[in-house]
Formats: sequence, C-alpha cells, structure tokens
Amino acid sequence: MQDTRIKYIPGTMCYKTVLGFIWRTKQSRIPSAEALKTRGVTMDSTICGACNMTVETGDHIVATCTLARDVLRMILYWCGLRKTNFHSVSSIIDYASR
Ligand SMILES: [Zn+2]
Repeated sequence: MQDTRIKYIPGTMCYKTVLGFIWRTKQSRIPSAEALKTRGVTMDSTICGACNMTVETGDHIVATCTLARDVLRMILYWCGLRKTNFHSVSSIIDYASR
C-alpha cells in the first residue's frame, strides 16, 4: 500500500507535494485552461476565471494573475520580504533559490 501522507523532505525546507506542484507548474503540467485546451478538452473560454484579463496558463495561475500576486504579496509580507513583481514560475523559483 502506498503511503499518501504529506512528507517533509529534509534539507529542502519543503513538503514533497509542494515540490511536486512546483515541478509540474514549471513543466507546464498543471491543468490550466490553456493546457486543457491543448489536450483536447472542449472549453467555452481559456480566459482566467479569477481576473478575466488573459489566458489562464500555469505561469498566470501561480505568478501573474492579480489573485496570485495578492496571495504572494501576503505570503512574502508574512515572511518579512517585499518583492512582488514575479513574471513566471521560474522567477519565483529563482528568487526562492537565493
Ligand atoms: Zn487571472
């Protein structure tokens, strides 16, 4: 039987499920509207349902959507950090890797 509990990965400061999500996002493998359309899913629109401003991609969901920016800003503020203008998942990973 597979152990499905969330596991902390020593030395990474991160949980296995979080690393998996980050990896899948960087590989454009989260089910964004654009990714689903590319896979043949019929959709009325690929525009982001949170902001209605642009196509919903992985980068948009995590980094550039106004909702994502607000959440990131609050998390960074909570951590005592002030950077808020990420343009992609890669830019967040680069910032977190410093
Ligand atoms: Zn959006």
